[in-house]
Amino acid sequence: MTTLPIPVPTVAPEAAPFWDATAEGRLLLPRCDDCGVAFWWPRVVCPSCHSQNLSWLVATGRGSVYSFTVTARGSDEYAGIGEYVLAFVELAEGPKMLTNLVDCDPAAIEIGQEVEAVFCPTGEGPALVRFRPLTT
Ligand SMILES: [Zn+2]
Repeated sequence: MTTLPIPVPTVAPEAAPFWDATAEGRLLLPRCDDCGVAFWWPRVVCPSCHSQNLSWLVATGRGSVYSFTVTARGSDEYAGIGEYVLAFVELAEGPKMLTNLVDCDPAAIEIGQEVEAVFCPTGEGPALVRFRPLTT
C-alpha cells in the first residue's frame, strides 16, 4: 500500500479555523448563518446567497464516495510514490471534498461506499483530512 506524503498546507486567513481544528482531529465546515448551507472550501462569502454571516459547523467526519480515480502518476510531492486514490467524498453535511482515500485496497472501492475522516499530521500544526472506508 502506498504511503502518501503529507505536505504542509498554505493556510489562508479565512481557512485558519478549519486548519486549527484538524490539528485537534476535528473537521469543521463553513456554514451560512442566513441560508443554512454548509459548504466546502472555506471562503468569506456564502456560495449560495453571498451572505458574509458565516460560522463553523462541527462535521461528523462521515460521508460516502461520490467519485474516485486511482492515480498512477502524481506530481510535486506525489511524484514517484506509486498508485494512490484521489476522490470526491460527499460529506454527511452535504458538501463534497476533494481528498485521498487511504487504508484501503483501491480495487475494492465502490461509489457510495461509506467513509470516515482520518487526520494525517503534517508535524507543523495542521493535519491533512483524508478518508478511509468504514468497516462494519
Ligand atoms: Zn447563504
